[in-house]
Amino acid sequence: MAPPQSISIIGAGIGGLTLARCLLKRNIPIVLYENMPSGTRHSYAITLLQSSYQPLLDVPEIDESAFKRRVAVDGTMGGNGAINAKLLVQQSASSSNSFRAHRGKLEELLREGLDVRWEHTLERVETIDSHVVLYFQNGQNGQKVQSDCVIGLDGIHSNTRK
Ligand SMILES: Cc1cc2nc3c(=O)[nH]c(=O)nc-3n(C[C@H](O)[C@H](O)[C@H](O)COP(=O)(O)OP(=O)(O)OC[C@H]3O[C@@H](n4cnc5c(N)ncnc54)[C@H](O)[C@@H]3O)c2cc1C
Repeated sequence: MAPPQSISIIGAGIGGLTLARCLLKRNIPIVLYENMPSGTRHSYAITLLQSSYQPLLDVPEIDESAFKRRVAVDGTMGGNGAINAKLLVQQSASSSNSFRAHRGKLEELLREGLDVRWEHTLERVETIDSHVVLYFQNGQNGQKVQSDCVIGLDGIHSNTRK
Protein backbone atom coordinates (compact mmCIF):
# COMPACT_ATOMS: atom_id res chain seq x y z
CA MET A 1 0.00 0.00 0.00
CA ALA A 2 1.21 3.52 -0.81
CA PRO A 3 2.24 5.75 2.14
CA PRO A 4 -0.61 7.77 3.70
CA GLN A 5 -1.56 11.04 2.02
CA SER A 6 -3.36 13.82 3.71
CA ILE A 7 -6.07 14.60 1.15
CA SER A 8 -7.23 12.80 -1.99
CA ILE A 9 -9.58 14.40 -4.48
CA ILE A 10 -11.54 12.21 -6.85
CA GLY A 11 -12.07 13.92 -10.22
CA ALA A 12 -9.83 16.42 -11.99
CA GLY A 13 -12.66 18.47 -13.52
CA ILE A 14 -13.19 22.18 -12.90
CA GLY A 15 -14.36 21.58 -9.32
CA GLY A 16 -11.56 19.21 -8.28
CA LEU A 17 -8.86 21.35 -9.88
CA THR A 18 -10.16 24.56 -8.31
CA LEU A 19 -10.28 23.04 -4.83
CA ALA A 20 -6.85 21.46 -5.28
CA ARG A 21 -5.36 24.85 -6.25
CA CYS A 22 -6.95 26.51 -3.20
CA LEU A 23 -5.43 23.86 -0.93
CA LEU A 24 -2.05 24.02 -2.66
CA LYS A 25 -1.98 27.76 -2.08
CA ARG A 26 -2.30 27.00 1.63
CA ASN A 27 0.51 24.42 1.37
CA ILE A 28 -1.86 21.52 1.94
CA PRO A 29 -0.66 18.58 -0.14
CA ILE A 30 -3.26 16.83 -2.24
CA VAL A 31 -3.38 14.18 -4.95
CA LEU A 32 -6.09 14.16 -7.62
CA TYR A 33 -7.32 10.91 -9.13
CA GLU A 34 -8.94 11.13 -12.54
CA ASN A 35 -10.39 8.26 -14.53
CA MET A 36 -9.70 9.87 -17.93
CA PRO A 37 -6.31 9.70 -19.67
CA SER A 38 -4.12 12.82 -19.71
CA GLY A 39 -3.87 15.16 -22.66
CA THR A 40 -6.06 17.92 -23.94
CA ARG A 41 -9.59 17.33 -22.89
CA HIS A 42 -12.83 19.15 -23.54
CA SER A 43 -12.04 21.03 -26.70
CA TYR A 44 -15.10 23.25 -26.61
CA ALA A 45 -16.20 26.63 -25.32
CA ILE A 46 -18.10 27.38 -22.14
CA THR A 47 -19.46 30.70 -20.96
CA LEU A 48 -17.84 31.92 -17.77
CA LEU A 49 -19.69 34.47 -15.70
CA GLN A 50 -17.57 37.03 -13.90
CA SER A 51 -18.99 35.90 -10.57
CA SER A 52 -17.68 32.39 -11.22
CA TYR A 53 -14.23 33.19 -12.61
CA GLN A 54 -13.36 36.18 -10.40
CA PRO A 55 -12.51 34.02 -7.34
CA LEU A 56 -10.32 31.86 -9.59
CA LEU A 57 -8.01 34.80 -10.31
CA ASP A 58 -6.69 34.74 -6.75
CA VAL A 59 -5.87 31.09 -6.94
CA PRO A 60 -3.43 31.09 -9.88
CA GLU A 61 -2.63 34.76 -8.97
CA ILE A 62 -3.26 36.14 -12.40
CA ASP A 63 -4.91 39.38 -13.49
CA GLU A 64 -8.17 39.33 -15.42
CA SER A 65 -6.79 40.26 -18.84
CA ALA A 66 -3.93 37.72 -18.61
CA PHE A 67 -6.45 35.09 -17.48
CA LYS A 68 -8.66 35.80 -20.51
CA ARG A 69 -5.68 35.72 -22.88
CA ARG A 70 -4.79 32.27 -21.50
CA VAL A 71 -8.23 30.69 -21.56
CA ALA A 72 -10.45 32.62 -23.98
CA VAL A 73 -11.42 30.74 -27.15
CA ASP A 74 -9.69 33.44 -29.22
CA GLY A 75 -6.96 34.18 -26.65
CA THR A 76 -4.09 33.03 -28.89
CA MET A 77 -5.24 35.56 -31.50
CA GLY A 78 -5.23 38.38 -28.95
CA GLY A 79 -8.96 38.16 -28.22
CA ASN A 80 -10.67 38.01 -24.84
CA GLY A 81 -13.63 35.75 -25.59
CA ALA A 82 -16.04 38.66 -25.79
CA ILE A 83 -19.60 37.65 -26.66
CA ASN A 84 -21.24 39.53 -29.52
CA ALA A 85 -24.82 39.91 -28.30
CA LYS A 86 -26.05 40.76 -31.82
CA LEU A 87 -25.23 37.21 -32.94
CA LEU A 88 -27.27 35.56 -30.20
CA VAL A 89 -30.81 34.27 -30.61
CA GLN A 90 -31.54 35.39 -27.05
CA GLN A 91 -29.71 38.68 -26.84
CA SER A 92 -30.74 39.26 -23.22
CA ALA A 93 -28.80 36.11 -22.26
CA SER A 94 -25.52 37.91 -22.91
CA SER A 95 -23.76 40.11 -20.43
CA SER A 96 -20.53 42.07 -20.59
CA ASN A 97 -19.61 40.21 -17.43
CA SER A 98 -19.23 36.89 -19.20
CA PHE A 99 -16.84 35.55 -21.84
CA ARG A 100 -16.28 32.40 -23.87
CA ALA A 101 -13.54 30.22 -22.43
CA HIS A 102 -11.93 27.13 -23.93
CA ARG A 103 -12.66 24.52 -21.31
CA GLY A 104 -9.50 22.50 -22.04
CA LYS A 105 -7.31 25.60 -21.65
CA LEU A 106 -9.05 26.56 -18.42
CA GLU A 107 -8.42 23.11 -16.96
CA GLU A 108 -4.80 23.22 -18.20
CA LEU A 109 -4.23 26.49 -16.34
CA LEU A 110 -5.85 25.19 -13.16
CA ARG A 111 -3.80 21.97 -13.35
CA GLU A 112 -0.42 23.73 -13.22
CA GLY A 113 1.69 22.43 -10.34
CA LEU A 114 -0.89 19.84 -9.27
CA ASP A 115 -0.33 16.12 -8.86
CA VAL A 116 -2.92 14.43 -11.09
CA ARG A 117 -2.93 10.64 -11.37
CA TRP A 118 -4.62 9.91 -14.68
CA GLU A 119 -6.49 6.72 -15.52
CA HIS A 120 -7.40 6.11 -11.90
CA THR A 121 -11.06 5.20 -11.61
CA LEU A 122 -12.25 5.03 -8.05
CA GLU A 123 -14.29 1.93 -7.44
CA ARG A 124 -15.00 2.08 -3.71
CA VAL A 125 -13.95 3.69 -0.46
CA GLU A 126 -13.53 1.97 2.88
CA THR A 127 -13.26 3.81 6.20
CA ILE A 128 -10.84 2.18 8.62
CA ASP A 129 -10.42 3.90 11.99
CA SER A 130 -9.48 7.50 11.22
CA HIS A 131 -8.46 7.06 7.59
CA VAL A 132 -9.91 5.91 4.29
CA VAL A 133 -8.72 3.33 1.80
CA LEU A 134 -9.40 4.06 -1.85
CA TYR A 135 -9.75 1.15 -4.23
CA PHE A 136 -9.17 1.84 -7.90
CA GLN A 137 -10.29 -0.34 -10.77
CA ASN A 138 -8.33 -3.50 -11.43
CA GLY A 139 -5.39 -3.24 -13.76
CA GLN A 140 -4.63 0.37 -12.79
CA ASN A 141 -1.58 1.66 -10.94
CA GLY A 142 -1.99 2.33 -7.24
CA GLN A 143 -4.98 0.05 -6.89
CA LYS A 144 -5.15 0.65 -3.15
CA VAL A 145 -4.31 4.00 -1.58
CA GLN A 146 -4.57 5.06 2.04
CA SER A 147 -5.62 8.63 2.73
CA ASP A 148 -6.61 10.75 5.71
CA CYS A 149 -9.48 12.34 3.81
CA VAL A 150 -11.23 11.89 0.48
CA ILE A 151 -13.24 14.53 -1.37
CA GLY A 152 -15.60 13.45 -4.14
CA LEU A 153 -15.57 15.92 -7.02
CA ASP A 154 -16.34 13.27 -9.60
CA GLY A 155 -19.18 15.14 -11.25
CA ILE A 156 -22.88 15.63 -10.83
CA HIS A 157 -23.59 11.91 -10.39
CA SER A 158 -20.68 11.40 -7.98
CA ASN A 159 -20.38 7.84 -6.72
CA THR A 160 -17.85 8.95 -4.12
CA ARG A 161 -20.33 11.30 -2.49
CA LYS A 162 -23.05 8.64 -2.62
C1 LIG B 1 -22.45 20.29 -22.69
C2 LIG B 1 -22.14 21.11 -21.45
C3 LIG B 1 -22.03 22.49 -21.57
C4 LIG B 1 -21.74 23.26 -20.44
N1 LIG B 1 -21.61 24.60 -20.58
C5 LIG B 1 -21.27 25.35 -19.51
C6 LIG B 1 -21.07 26.75 -19.66
O1 LIG B 1 -21.21 27.32 -20.75
N2 LIG B 1 -20.70 27.46 -18.54
C7 LIG B 1 -20.53 26.84 -17.32
O2 LIG B 1 -20.17 27.54 -16.34
N3 LIG B 1 -20.75 25.53 -17.17
C8 LIG B 1 -21.11 24.78 -18.22
N4 LIG B 1 -21.32 23.44 -18.05
C9 LIG B 1 -21.28 22.89 -16.69
C10 LIG B 1 -19.85 22.60 -16.24
O3 LIG B 1 -19.24 21.75 -17.17
C11 LIG B 1 -19.95 21.95 -14.88
O4 LIG B 1 -20.60 22.81 -13.96
C12 LIG B 1 -18.58 21.63 -14.31
O5 LIG B 1 -17.86 20.86 -15.25
C13 LIG B 1 -18.73 20.87 -13.01
O6 LIG B 1 -17.44 20.60 -12.53
P1 LIG B 1 -17.12 19.32 -11.65
O7 LIG B 1 -15.65 19.35 -11.39
O8 LIG B 1 -18.06 19.26 -10.50
O9 LIG B 1 -17.50 18.07 -12.55
P2 LIG B 1 -16.82 17.54 -13.94
O10 LIG B 1 -16.27 18.69 -14.71
O11 LIG B 1 -17.86 16.68 -14.53
O12 LIG B 1 -15.60 16.68 -13.43
C14 LIG B 1 -15.74 15.45 -12.80
C15 LIG B 1 -14.48 14.61 -13.10
O13 LIG B 1 -14.52 13.42 -12.33
C16 LIG B 1 -14.06 12.33 -13.12
N5 LIG B 1 -14.60 11.09 -12.56
C17 LIG B 1 -15.88 10.65 -12.58
N6 LIG B 1 -16.00 9.48 -11.94
C18 LIG B 1 -14.74 9.16 -11.49
C19 LIG B 1 -14.21 8.06 -10.75
N7 LIG B 1 -14.97 7.03 -10.33
N8 LIG B 1 -12.87 8.03 -10.47
C20 LIG B 1 -12.07 9.05 -10.88
N9 LIG B 1 -12.53 10.12 -11.57
C21 LIG B 1 -13.85 10.18 -11.87
C22 LIG B 1 -14.58 12.66 -14.53
O14 LIG B 1 -13.83 12.00 -15.53
C23 LIG B 1 -14.41 14.18 -14.58
O15 LIG B 1 -13.16 14.57 -15.11
C24 LIG B 1 -21.59 22.64 -19.16
C25 LIG B 1 -21.72 21.26 -19.06
C26 LIG B 1 -21.98 20.49 -20.18
C27 LIG B 1 -22.11 18.99 -20.04
